[in-house]
Formats: sequence, structure tokens, C-alpha cells
Amino acid sequence: MAAGGEASSSVELGFAERAAPARLVSSQFPSKVGGRPAWLSLQLPGPELLRCGGCAQPLLFLLQVYAPRGRAFHRALLLFCCALPACSSRRFAVFRSQLGRTNDFYPADPPPEPGSEPGPASSPGPRLCCVCGASGPKSCSRCRRAHYCGKEHQSADWRAGHRAECGRPGDAGGSLLSLNILFPELELVMELEDSEGQKLEDLTECLESLSAADSDCVTEALDEQELEAMAKHETKEDRIFAHFKRRIALAPDQVLRYCRGGSPLWVSGENIPLDIDIPNCSCGAMREFEFQVMPQLLNQLKVDRLGESLDWGTLVVYTCEQSCDHGNEYSPEFLWKQDFSADQL
Ligand SMILES: [Zn+2]
Ligand SMILES: [Zn+2]
Ligand SMILES: [Zn+2]
Ligand SMILES: [Zn+2]
Repeated sequence: MAAGGEASSSVELGFAERAAPARLVSSQFPSKVGGRPAWLSLQLPGPELLRCGGCAQPLLFLLQVYAPRGRAFHRALLLFCCALPACSSRRFAVFRSQLGRTNDFYPADPPPEPGSEPGPASSPGPRLCCVCGASGPKSCSRCRRAHYCGKEHQSADWRAGHRAECGRPGDAGGSLLSLNILFPELELVMELEDSEGQKLEDLTECLESLSAADSDCVTEALDEQELEAMAKHETKEDRIFAHFKRRIALAPDQVLRYCRGGSPLWVSGENIPLDIDIPNCSCGAMREFEFQVMPQLLNQLKVDRLGESLDWGTLVVYTCEQSCDHGNEYSPEFLWKQDFSADQL
């Protein structure tokens, strides 16, 4: 199911589940985690745009959300991150791609079932880095069948096994190294959050604005014990984190929350962006909250093998509220990373 629909305060939750790889390719318009990107527009961003602003190494694909919207018949948001243990800045990047129903890459009718023949003949598709799935303008000078985003993945792949495989029939490079560096590939399955979630939200707002005793609004939703537990959290910081934990407890496995135009669920009272911290889109329009990645995703990514390199409280993605049209190009959007505050760890 696609995320999105019309703006409302209801939240869709994303759960990461195993799925047949055939469901997770571009022509199926998936929401997914890990593996290689299922590019929407096949006019890919250049490899230079998919480099960490800190260490200049290639970014890895983290996840994508398929979220059509109005005139954007197809619309996808793709998130990339730097996962290098040695990198001190570990940047993220988000790109939005959208296409009309009639477009240069996909038939106007619903996609064929996974595994069936693709629709009307499409062009051969862009050259992809056989390691990370980004645009791959460089090729192995010996076999010319293995393509790379840049010299890093080329030389790493050479060492990881392409040296031995190069030129063998059927080999196009990348296989061994990819297994080691890509995040595990999973489908993102979206479901509406239980209405208890909104109740909890309303209640917390009410408590926030409440002077201790007069509690009209605090009626059925929580029993006394729970109320006391909430009241005990004295600092604002505690209350925010307690609220976070309560809301998450309704569906502990959620790895993503989608609520375009809504509000993110903060993990901490620290480092919450002000409006001026969120830059406008290149078209001049404001950006609005669209989805956030939850810390539970880290458990599913097996990041330990990356040497504790990746961590977040939540990753909050803001997108152009006009969803402005850039044809086949990918437009950068904005990501805000919030960490757990020190005393929550
Ligand atoms: Zn980096
Ligand atoms: Zn690459
Ligand atoms: Zn080769
Ligand atoms: Zn815009």
C-alpha cells in the first residue's frame, strides 16, 4: 500500500517485512528498506550528489517511501546515508522523484504482477553501480560489464572478488561486496495507526496545557495509575520521552511514521528544529513534515556489523509542500536528525 493520500492527522506506520525481491523493483513502485534503490525516475542523480558531505565517500541507500500525491501520479522519496564507521559527520540525503501517469519510463496502466514480463518494451535502463545501485558511469576496463559509481566501489569490489571473477561468463561484478555493505532488503508495509494513538496525542496536549488539578479532558482514556505515572514525569524532557514511549508502545515494531503535514513524534525536547531551521524548497515553497524514521529500524538493519557507525533517535523528513515538478530529475529534500538526549541512553 502506498503511503499518503490526502493530508490528515492520521498517521500511517511502516513495518519492515521480508518480501520476494521481485516485489521490490522499480516497476512495482515499492516502499522498501535496504538493498539497492528502486529508482522511480530512471534519470538518476549523478554519483557526486550521492556522496557524504563529510567524508566524500558514496552514500548507501537506506529506504524509500512511495507516496503519490495529486498531480504526482508516481512519487517516491529516497533516503541515503553515510554508514562509514570512520566518518565523523555521517550525512544523510533525501531525494524526491515524481512522474505523471504518462511518463518516460512506465506504462500508464497498473504494473504487471511481480515476476511476470514487464510491460511494453522500455529502454534498457540506466547503468547502475553493481555494488550500491547508484548511477554507474565508470566501468571495469577489463570486462566492461561491471559498472561503478566511482573509484571507491570499483577498487573495493576488485579486492572483494571481482579480480577473480572478472571476465567470467555471467559475472557483472559487485555480488560479494554488496552482500557486505548493503543494508538487508525488506519491504516497508504501511498500516494506519490505531486511533488510540490520536487519543494519546490529544491527552498529552491537554496535560501539557493543564494546571495540575483541573483535568476535564483527562477522563476515560487513561486510568488513574497511568495518569499518576504521567504526572510523575516532571521535566518537559521527561514528558516528551514518556509520550514517545507510550505512543510507540501501541505498535512497538514500527520503523516509520508517515503523516504529511502533521507533526513528528519527537524523542527528546532537545534539538527540535524551529521553522527557520527548515529551509524552503528550491522552488521557494515551504517544506512540511512528511515522515520520520524510527530508532527501531536500527535493530533491523544489523548495524552492529558496521561498527556502531549508525545511530539516531529519529530522522525527520520535510518535503516541498507544493511537491513542485522537476520533470525526470531528483530534487533534494530536507532531513533533520534528532538524537536521544544523554540521560535517555
Ligand atoms: Zn561520511
Ligand atoms: Zn557504488
Ligand atoms: Zn571486470
Ligand atoms: Zn518545491
